[in-house]
Order: sequence, then C-alpha cells, then structure tokens
Amino acid sequence: MTADRPDRIRRWPVHPVPEPGEALTSWLTRIADRYDMSVSLLLRHNLGAASMLVEAAVAADLDFDPPLALLQAISERTGNAVADLRLMTIAGWVPWLADCLDPADGQQMFDNYVRSDSALLLPAEAGTNVVTRWRPWLSTHDKGWRTAQRLCPACARQPERGTALFTAVPVMLSCIEHGCLLEPAAPVRVGLALKEPVAARPATDAVIALDTLTWTALTTGEVLLPGRPERPVHAGLWLRMLRMLLDEVSISTSRLGIRSTAIVERIWNTTGQPIRAGLAVWKPYERLDTARQQAMLEAVATAVHLAEAGAITPGSTLGELLTRPRHRSVYDGDVHWWSTPGPTDPWSQFWQDAENVVTAARSDPGTARWLLELFTRRCKTLTHFNLERAFLMNNGIPAAYLPGAYELGRSDLLRDDQA
Ligand SMILES: [Zn+2]
Repeated sequence: MTADRPDRIRRWPVHPVPEPGEALTSWLTRIADRYDMSVSLLLRHNLGAASMLVEAAVAADLDFDPPLALLQAISERTGNAVADLRLMTIAGWVPWLADCLDPADGQQMFDNYVRSDSALLLPAEAGTNVVTRWRPWLSTHDKGWRTAQRLCPACARQPERGTALFTAVPVMLSCIEHGCLLEPAAPVRVGLALKEPVAARPATDAVIALDTLTWTALTTGEVLLPGRPERPVHAGLWLRMLRMLLDEVSISTSRLGIRSTAIVERIWNTTGQPIRAGLAVWKPYERLDTARQQAMLEAVATAVHLAEAGAITPGSTLGELLTRPRHRSVYDGDVHWWSTPGPTDPWSQFWQDAENVVTAARSDPGTARWLLELFTRRCKTLTHFNLERAFLMNNGIPAAYLPGAYELGRSDLLRDDQA
C-alpha cells in the first residue's frame, strides 16, 4: 500500500501533546474533538491500511491492548513513539502492573505477585489462599478490566484536560494536583452538565502522601521511598509493594502472630474503620466492592504514614523501605533482591537478576549498552533519554560505556522545544 509509506504519510495537522499518565482513548478523543469527529471516525478514515483494524480494536477497548499496527499508524501521524503510545494502554504496563494479562494462571500469578514476599507482616505469615482467574489490579468480569471510573471534580471542570489511564484502575484515591478525593465519574459529569458541579472533598495528608508515591511511579517510572532516599525504586517494585500492602491489611488477624495482629489493629484503629473494613470472608482486592477497595487503600495510606513515622515496625526488610533509616529493625531470617535471594522466593530472584545485570554492566560495555537501549526504548525526548542515561551512571555504570543518543542512532528523539 503506497499510501502507507512513511515518506508519504502526512501528520495530522493538530494533535495535542499527551498529558502525563493519560489514557490512549482520552488523548484520541481530544484530537478527534479538534476535528469535530468521533474517535472511530477519525481512525477509520485517517489511518491508511490500519483503518481496517479500527472497528474491532475500538470494540475491544483501545485502552487495553490495541494492535501494534494501529499504534504504529497513529505514531506515524502524530510523531509520538509507539513505545510511548503503548504506555497509554494497560498492555504497555506488563510486566510492571501484572506479569501477564491472561487471568488463566491466576493462582500462580497471585502467589508470585502478592504472596512471594511481605512488607508489614513476617515472611510467609499471610499463608495461602485459593484464587481462580485472577490478575493484579484488574477486574476479570465479562464487563472488562475497568473498575468504575472516578474523576477529580476540579480537573473535570477543565474541558481541555485529559483523563489518566489509571482512573479506571483502583490504585489511587485522590488527585495529587488538587489534593482532593476522586469521585464517581457519572455524578461529576452530570453535575457539570447541569452547572451544579460536585464539590471537591479534601484528601487526608496520608492519602495524598501515598498517592504521590504511586503517581510519581506511574508517570516517571521510579519513586523514592523513605527507607532509601538516595536511590529510587522502579515503578514495578512499587506497584507490587502497594498490592502486597493491600493484601496485608485485608488478612484475618486469626492467621497472624501477636506482633503482626497489633500492627494491623493499630492501622485500622487509626483509620477509624472496623478492622479489614468489616470484611467477613477474604477476597482478593480486585473482587472487593468500590467502598471496600477505598477503605483498604486508606488503610495502606495510614500504614505507610505510621511506618514512616516509626509508629509501627514492618516485619520484613522489604517493609523497611517504608521507614526512615533510623528506625530500621533487624530481622535476619529474610532475603531480598538487594541481598541473597532464596530459592523459594521468585520475586526476590527476579530483582536479584536485575541487580546482577547492573553489576555486570559496571564492567562490561556490551551489557551497559544493552541496558541503556532497554531503559531508553520508551524515550521520546532527548531530555528523557539523558535522564535515563544519568540514572544508569548514578548506579555506578561508567559514562564511557553508555553511548549518547546520537551514537545510539536515536535520531527520532525530540529536543524539548520540539516536543
Ligand atoms: Zn485534579
């Protein structure tokens, strides 16, 4: 199809820059609005050969896992890298959000993602639970992966604003820009249409602090935790740790020893809610109703606040990432990705492998170059590329082993004034 040759493709004349964390459908809607079209119409008549994929992809949900050919066609017409467009979809977050999106191996994924380590509790104290058809964070209902969408009432008053991908995933309670709680989308939209906007309710300091960690991880790929202020942790580690904390505050205290029971009770007493938000029979977080999911997130926000303040002492070395260094306790029966991994601990093994690669890159130019290519694959701008390169240098990899963007053949990167 000569019409699709890159040198003949004309960019869409108007295409606003995606906002940090914005969902693909939100961004495409903002583009289509400029042309007074629906997203379907925009894509069906303006994507060359890939237009044939549009109908099925829209029906399957463009924010989940759209065909690569469709993203490539959009990339050619907007100048946004395919890798950046992928990050505007759920599939772009594999393996950080989930090991995979297929819930068939739910039990293995649950054991690996949630129970292979501990934070507040002692290692293995959570025990085991049977889980079928499961994937972290996402619903497995017929209706799809989304939970009921929630919006910031203040952001919603600005019609030109986009909607973040993760407003349809239960990872946060608040909008950190406005410091207010997210509210159910339908009343927010109806209120705006009737010119009776839903009032913004302020979030607590603990909730804003927790959500700031999550939002930073989701929009920059890494986040600094109180226990290791000198070196950020990867977004993937933070998402797993957050999910592990949500699990730990939902576990029946009948399974726990005196020490962990006291911690869990202290957390729930501080929130002012009944323990486990009144949950009688354990279910994974993804299957709780919205009110309980919010209560669990609030409990985790409280736990993170109490741990940082030294009011509770996490039961594992992973949990100590939440405490300021002076409060660190010693529990020497545990192994983690920055120490020696244990054979029964696949997550620790995964992170140990990552550490080994960084160690190898410190003395091997080939590994260093490969790592740089991996880290900068999703970069769209020169600034972002240089930040990733600096991150590797800060981890002890010599600058001489890390080629610059030009040397690496990245002529696609934009300068800030072009982005
Ligand atoms: Zn907001």
